[in-house]
Amino acid sequence: MQTQTSETLRRADPAPTPEWDAIIIGAGISGLFQLHCLRDRLGMNVRLFEMGTGVGGTWYWNRYPGARFDSESYSYAYSFSQELLDEWDWSEHFAGQPETERYLNHVADKFDLRRSISFASKVTACHYHDDSRSWVVRLEGGSWHTCRFLVTAVGPLSAPTLPKVPGQESFAGEAYHTGLWPKHPVTFEDKRVAVIGTGASGVQVITEIAKTAKTLTVFQRRPNWCKPLHNRPISKNEMKRLRAWYPEMFQLCEQTSAGFLHTPDGRRTFDLPPDEREAFWEKQYGTPGFSMWVGGFKDMMTDRAANDEVSKFVARKIRERVHDPKVADLLIPKDHGFGTRRVPQESGYYEVFNQPNVELVSILENPIRRITPTGLELADRDFAFDLIVYATGFDAITGSFERIDIRGASKAKLKEKWRAALETFLGVQIADFPNMFMCIGPHTALGNIPRSAEYNVLWITNLIQYMRQHGYTYVVPRPEAVEDWTSFVLKAGEGLLSNDVDSWMTGINQNVEGKQTRIIARYSGSAPAFRARANAVATEGYRQLEMC
Ligand code: NAP
Repeated sequence: MQTQTSETLRRADPAPTPEWDAIIIGAGISGLFQLHCLRDRLGMNVRLFEMGTGVGGTWYWNRYPGARFDSESYSYAYSFSQELLDEWDWSEHFAGQPETERYLNHVADKFDLRRSISFASKVTACHYHDDSRSWVVRLEGGSWHTCRFLVTAVGPLSAPTLPKVPGQESFAGEAYHTGLWPKHPVTFEDKRVAVIGTGASGVQVITEIAKTAKTLTVFQRRPNWCKPLHNRPISKNEMKRLRAWYPEMFQLCEQTSAGFLHTPDGRRTFDLPPDEREAFWEKQYGTPGFSMWVGGFKDMMTDRAANDEVSKFVARKIRERVHDPKVADLLIPKDHGFGTRRVPQESGYYEVFNQPNVELVSILENPIRRITPTGLELADRDFAFDLIVYATGFDAITGSFERIDIRGASKAKLKEKWRAALETFLGVQIADFPNMFMCIGPHTALGNIPRSAEYNVLWITNLIQYMRQHGYTYVVPRPEAVEDWTSFVLKAGEGLLSNDVDSWMTGINQNVEGKQTRIIARYSGSAPAFRARANAVATEGYRQLEMC
């Protein structure tokens, strides 16, 4: 592998023959599988650059206490290798982060992936060069590399963001973002701890910290609707039964709208009398995983009155579980209905607020003014802390792309292009950015990420294989294909209550400049419909793509 300095880059940029057939950015779930496919199935010369010092992506960075799956472990695993399926036992229905990180390390070892990965290698820029039909990929530190194909596997939730609050550097205690959690052990015993943020990460970390902290103060801007996870261990016998179910289970995941094991109930909310609706929700509330979110009545996400009913049910549950009615009221969302933002799955979250060591502070109308050397300040109150946890989320979906200076054939910056209008082809390619492919990019099916990622990776692999078979070295989507796909994505989002709500799913992040207006950032139609269109592109000979 060449390592070139920015001096040689100026002289030689762009290199006439790419050093690598493909460069992949990111060693998370999609990047690892993409590496295996391109290197081991197509025999390509591939390098993967990873910012961290280990594999795992999300499951490498989000090592905060309490981090765990909230889709069933086995449904989240890779399905591409029978051997891998046969040899890996999951210990819990919803595995914790350490187990998932171990699993992904096992995958990296099993398929000998590490020899093709450069760790601690942060990609800062990727520029396309038309004359050599190649990408120049620059790393922090000044080295650069060239490739024919660039595959981004940077993740939809991997650009952590901190509040826009002054004084953060001045804090004398420990401070951690959940998405950048350190590898060294962090303890909470005898400490006064603050957690800012109550999304899925906040809910998990709060529940864990409350067990041992001397005091825990939760700073909540807007509450989320949470539902019990109902995790439990998997016995050896149960694992055997699960393994026998795998073929059917993966088929089921292929058929469901979001790749999860749960399917929406075919009935509409008001088709049932109130007592039967209540019994249905009661059962769902007691069912593990996302059943209540993605397995609800079919009008739950499109009919406001229907959504109000299920929201009232969950609100009653919160009131039952939280002793102080004022605290319960603060924990009940008022600005959005159940399921219209990502539903955090909890394991005793609401009961935490009954503990004497825990205080909930609403900062919706009384925001944090500044972080001080000893704690933080609201307009009417000062707090002292030993440790602050920022569970404040991510510049989602487009953020990790925008942190890299990506420029296409016309030298236009991807960030600027997307700020003007977010447009893609199948969420995989972008006009003016030839030979670049996105795994789990914007406008692709998200849902159960590994299910979408495996499909995404195979689609990209098949396209590259087709190009190699035909001697093509250039591919870019035709403008009409981009237009067509983008309008399909916009149409798929019409009428969904979730697209009328501020959340990372609608591209909102109050901590990032220019991300205060809702957009359709993700494809919100069904995964089978997505795959049907993407499959048709391939079987019809990729007519939507310009190749030569
Ligand atoms: P998030 O859902 O975006 O939540 C961020 C939280 O921080 C929100 O409560 C937000 O309040 C608050 N916040 C942000 N900036 C703030 C500020 N300046 N002042 C006060 N509060 C602020 O992020 P997340 O919890 O990290 O979760 C992101 C996604 O990651 C999840 O939706 C999920 O898809 C994924 N995730 C998955 C798992 C899992 O599978 N088990 C676990 C964790 C996360 P507002 O709501 O008012 O903006």
